[in-house]
Amino acid sequence: MEERYYQKEIETMAPEALRALQSEKLVKQVKHVWENCPPYRKKMEEKGLTPDDIKGIEDLHKLPFVTKSDLRDTYPYGMLAKPLSECVRIQSTSGTTGKRVIAYYTQHDVDLWEDCCARAIMAVGGTKEDVVQVCYGYGLFTGGPGLNGGSHKVGCLTLPMSSGNTERQIQFMMDLKSTILCCTPSYAAYIGEALKEMGYKPQDNCLKAGIFGAEPWTEEMRHDIEKSLGIKAFDIYGLTETSGPGVAFECKAQKGMHINEDHFLAEIIDPETGEVLPDGSRGELVFTSLDKEAFPLLRYRTRDICVLDRTPCACGRTHVRMSKPMGRSDDMMIIRGVNVFPSQIETVLLSEGYAPNYQIVVDRAKNNDTLDVYVELSPEQFSDTVSAVTAREKSLAAAMRTMLGIGAVIHLVAPKSIARSEGKAVRVVDKRKLHD
Ligand code: ADP
Ligand code: ZN
Repeated sequence: MEERYYQKEIETMAPEALRALQSEKLVKQVKHVWENCPPYRKKMEEKGLTPDDIKGIEDLHKLPFVTKSDLRDTYPYGMLAKPLSECVRIQSTSGTTGKRVIAYYTQHDVDLWEDCCARAIMAVGGTKEDVVQVCYGYGLFTGGPGLNGGSHKVGCLTLPMSSGNTERQIQFMMDLKSTILCCTPSYAAYIGEALKEMGYKPQDNCLKAGIFGAEPWTEEMRHDIEKSLGIKAFDIYGLTETSGPGVAFECKAQKGMHINEDHFLAEIIDPETGEVLPDGSRGELVFTSLDKEAFPLLRYRTRDICVLDRTPCACGRTHVRMSKPMGRSDDMMIIRGVNVFPSQIETVLLSEGYAPNYQIVVDRAKNNDTLDVYVELSPEQFSDTVSAVTAREKSLAAAMRTMLGIGAVIHLVAPKSIARSEGKAVRVVDKRKLHD
């Protein structure tokens, strides 16, 4: 079927034209920030820069970074670059890694964000005939409002379900024949599990696609969800600081997420030195908002680690693609001197045939780091003999050691004993932080 786009001209723009557009927008944006955002002007002055030094995207690297702690230091309105009377909305981070950050939007900023989400919905095949069930949380969290706005723009029938009340989600899904599901991947997995328990088969629902994001998830988890819901599962990425979901989205090629580069200029840097790395290198993703008005962050360090890919995509979109972030640089655990990402543990568990219900506990005993992984058994696995369960524990521990390079203590626990997530799943409990 022919590929359809929400804003074809921009999404398929020739790379040179896109770069020219970005340069033009950057020059304007730097001026706007210099004139209207005193904390950033101060940062520029400290580097001896004025807006005249930025003539195009080739000068981007000269600009100072903005970090999450800059935002916390200027809480709540320090980075505001428009009068509050021109703002129409605030949203806030989930506070996954500390104090919440507040973002503010003019109507123009809300529109731009919703356009990005509309692009994501059309990229998975959404049309005005679709019924989009949004079960990301509504409220301060950007997930619900973002996809809701995008769905309206495409003209889909939008079900603003918000998260939770899984039985009601399923009833509406069946009765109203939802075709596109939007939520966190962990909640999608939970809905799949609940559908099965209620006696539904994957082909009983009318869903064709899911748009899942807001938290890291692995390819194994994607296959799991695709199987249990009978759909194609697509990734979507974003963060409150740059607007919300829709900063990048997956197309049907499922080979990375296209970054909406006409609005968000992406760089990859070495998280240690801040040096810009060439395309194809793994490093920290940095975004410059090119036309947001109220909260226009320049060179914002996301702490998300990924790789950019500029090779042409089968869908015809020309915007750069980012790989799935493996997790944030601050999600990375250092255990006995070894770097461990929760996503590596998830990959092992799912490829060994477990459901994505697990929790990782890191602690310190006698000056040594400990790593415990609690993994839920399915009812069938749970009815195994004791020796079969012991054998499972052993084989999982061995697979874990191969992946991580260090040992983990595996605890296989009863079905339903690990709390399900309706929003962002809490996968790691690091008790070392409590002792420090
Ligand atoms: P918080 O920082 O409190 O979680 P946000 O709700 O703004 O606040 O979350 C943004 C972060 O969520 C991103 O920086 C990234 O780490 C994570 N994230 C968002 N989408 C994805 C995705 N598709 N894959 C992996 N991580 C994601
Ligand atoms: Zn594509």
